[in-house]
Amino acid sequence: MHFKENDAKKIVIYQTIYMSFQSLGLSEALLKAISKKGYTTPSPIQQKAIPPVLEGKDVLASAQTGTGKTAGFTLPLLHMLSENPKEKFKPIRALILTPTRELAAQVYANVREYSEFLNLRSAVIFGGVNQKPQVANIRKGIEVLVATPGRLIDLENQGLLSLKRVEVLVLDEADRMLDMGFLRDIERIMKLMPAKRQNLMFSATFSKDIRKLAHGILNNPVQVEATPDNSTVDAISQKVYRVAKGLKTGLIIKLISDGNWKQVLVFTRTKHGANKLCKKMVSSGITAAAIHGNKSQGARTKALAGFKNGSVRVLVATDIAARGLDIPLLPHVVNFELPNISEDYVHRIGRTGRAGASGEAISLVSADETTYLRDIEKLVGIKLPVEIVEGFEPDPNASTQPIKQGQGRQQRNSRPKNSGRSEHRGSNSRRPKRTNDGRSNSRRS
Ligand code: AMP
Repeated sequence: MHFKENDAKKIVIYQTIYMSFQSLGLSEALLKAISKKGYTTPSPIQQKAIPPVLEGKDVLASAQTGTGKTAGFTLPLLHMLSENPKEKFKPIRALILTPTRELAAQVYANVREYSEFLNLRSAVIFGGVNQKPQVANIRKGIEVLVATPGRLIDLENQGLLSLKRVEVLVLDEADRMLDMGFLRDIERIMKLMPAKRQNLMFSATFSKDIRKLAHGILNNPVQVEATPDNSTVDAISQKVYRVAKGLKTGLIIKLISDGNWKQVLVFTRTKHGANKLCKKMVSSGITAAAIHGNKSQGARTKALAGFKNGSVRVLVATDIAARGLDIPLLPHVVNFELPNISEDYVHRIGRTGRAGASGEAISLVSADETTYLRDIEKLVGIKLPVEIVEGFEPDPNASTQPIKQGQGRQQRNSRPKNSGRSEHRGSNSRRPKRTNDGRSNSRRS
């Protein structure tokens, strides 16, 4: 029988897929799962992080959501655990700590997918939902646990889980953990694990506090960095619309409607602002959902699922709620308000133009946000192009004084209802710095 040209192509492609991940030394069962996910080549962070992790070294990685970092630690971790199976009793052997519930759920979903052909059990625990099903799952004996710090400590305190047999610890999005005031919790959790273990720490940025944390936890770590994909970052077009504060809602509705935008992620600074904007959108006939820490876990999951499957056109989110969300190929990100922490701007626009797709990041800026805009331009190292839309002009008489922090916000240290600590920023919250290699953070998105 003759081989059709297409078949030959398929085989070549298959071999390329197989070889490149195979050359990293991952097991057949993992290669099968990777192939099923449709990944063609390991991403830069995966190529750099997987080998030292497999060698059992501690790793300090600079990478944020969108770089493929989750597979960067999950794949070698699963490989190591499955190569050294525990016969009968299954203790928790790997702990993956994440700052938010959404990220925990996403990481867990990845763990499940990658371990489909392995004999390893995993579970996820986070606050804001009933602990019973989580406990029941843990009781069955699980080797990989994905957790947010609060719920983990709660369950450990109740004697419902033990971390005494942990072999590998992963701290995911360590910078955000510190921002959210989890330092104490992390320190407590460290004391619950054996001193001899492998530690992997992932962070988008490296402040002095992050380096201090890394120094306290990691042992002679290998440092790896995801080389930013310039084409991806360059593909993000950034634009500012100068507009009067009171006209922002009208302008965003016009932009979405006129541009016929189908999938838009909108950032507001406050939970109240997110709800208000969402209501206005809905009353203008645009399907929208809000996602923030005062929403129940069920509502947040539903909103995100609706956004991903296209039934919700606009997702309005606060920074912390949006952190870690895996929303691939997002064409439009709108800053309804600029963040007062410039670094959050970089995280926000990193949601668009991912995976080589082009994207547009738009900011609606009123007079009182002028200082924030200057700070952001300083951080990203470019002056953002400004446009004014007729009928939505800025107010020439408005004050350029920044609005006071805390206005329209919940009290800083209050814990949101139904939640772990997703919206809580502790005292470690600070203005961003340039990254330690002197490059602007925008290159890392
Ligand atoms: P992460 O940075 O871990 O949040 O991953 C971002 C997205 O990239 C997720 O949708 C992953 O499924 C996807 N991804 C991870 N590794 C690869 C890869 N090697 N090739 C293609 N996509 C990947």
